[in-house]
Amino acid sequence: MTQVLSANRNASCAAAPPQDEAGVAAPGQERGPGASRLATRQQDRSAIRADGHRPRVLFVSHTGTMSGAELVLRDAVRPWPGATAYLFEDGNLAEALRDAGLTIRLARRGTGLSGLRRDASVLRALPVLGQLAGLALDIARAARGSDIVYANSQKAFLLAALPARLVGRPVIWHLHDILDSAHFGRIQRIVQARLANLCAATIIVPSRAAAEAFVAAGGRPTRVTIVPNGLDLELDPKSPAALRAELGLPAGPLVGVFSRLAPWKGQDVVIDALAEVPNLRCIVVGSALFGEDAYAAELRARAAARGLSDRVLFLGQRSDVPRLMQAVDAVVHPSVDPEPFGRTLVEAMLAGVPVIATDAGASSEILDGGAAGTLVPPRRPDRLAVALAELLADPDAFAARTHHARDRALTLYGAAGMQAALAKLIHETAARA
Ligand code: UDP
Repeated sequence: MTQVLSANRNASCAAAPPQDEAGVAAPGQERGPGASRLATRQQDRSAIRADGHRPRVLFVSHTGTMSGAELVLRDAVRPWPGATAYLFEDGNLAEALRDAGLTIRLARRGTGLSGLRRDASVLRALPVLGQLAGLALDIARAARGSDIVYANSQKAFLLAALPARLVGRPVIWHLHDILDSAHFGRIQRIVQARLANLCAATIIVPSRAAAEAFVAAGGRPTRVTIVPNGLDLELDPKSPAALRAELGLPAGPLVGVFSRLAPWKGQDVVIDALAEVPNLRCIVVGSALFGEDAYAAELRARAAARGLSDRVLFLGQRSDVPRLMQAVDAVVHPSVDPEPFGRTLVEAMLAGVPVIATDAGASSEILDGGAAGTLVPPRRPDRLAVALAELLADPDAFAARTHHARDRALTLYGAAGMQAALAKLIHETAARA
């Protein structure tokens, strides 16, 4: 797939990408806490070009809620203090970006866009169209004061692409989603791919799976660059037993799921699998961030119906995921639809905990085809139960894979590597405009 992602100089609305832009971004190689501090200092300078010119970037996000894409943006902007973030709503993201030294420009009126399902029909979006037009004008004004517009979500791109191009600014779309039928309606996929072809100078995706889906939806492969999400994680030196005591978690076999509660994240499959593995408990970490409250209630009802209320522990949204991960015997990532990336996977790899994930979307790329974790088919509680039982029966048999996973995450998925790759693309795209 990455070979397919080659250059195209025939862009119409978009600025043309360079001949060699396609492919996986260079991974960060640094290891250990000292090295990572050094890398961070180096990347702080990576936003400045050799000639000293730093493009004025307008980062655009539709939501103030922190899910994976917003956590990526929080880390991506670190080398860009002084840049501006245009946010459709206030919230945790605004706070995090302010802390990183960005100027926050809030949309004058909230758009209610985060409440609009991303696979919503055009008809359901009609009532907010007037509001959206006002928002587009406001974005155009903000774009005029910048050199380049960086849309961090599908909704941000839909709203920012045309206004930015109308005022002559190049647009980068950081596409954190899989543009496939599991996640988006047909019209949505067509509109997004066409708009990208028309207006996006550069499309950044976190995985080969996301790149392939974009191209299958009709997006031009020549504008796509894969930049894997990168993150750093500080290990707690305490033993899992000590951490469990501190965190109030039970002793005995314990696994964890660490994702927002949403039907496609597949927590229900884990509950079904648990029914087949006696004595195993599971912490379910995360909440319904985007209105999936019915699913959250259904999960509790499902656990109760299977007599598992005391074995499925719902911990809600947490800010101490790495410590919780270090405390469990395994992390399960049970998405039933393809994952565009899954930061959770990398966090588990860095935490040094065995990972069992569904083979959907990018999981296999991240877990090295199963060499860095166990892959099971999605929507198969029976297969997940077998994998869980095997792990509990002989945890030592997984040690080599878990070691490999940590090395792999340190090598390929560090924050510094991601920041450098993104800065390079921002500079290149701004220079071509
Ligand atoms: N997360 C968190 N608290 C929770 C549950 C999840 O901070 O209670 C974090 C998790 O550690 C990860 C992110 O949310 O960094 C989810 O990112 P991922 O790419 O796995 O999924 P997304 O939500 O983007 O689909």
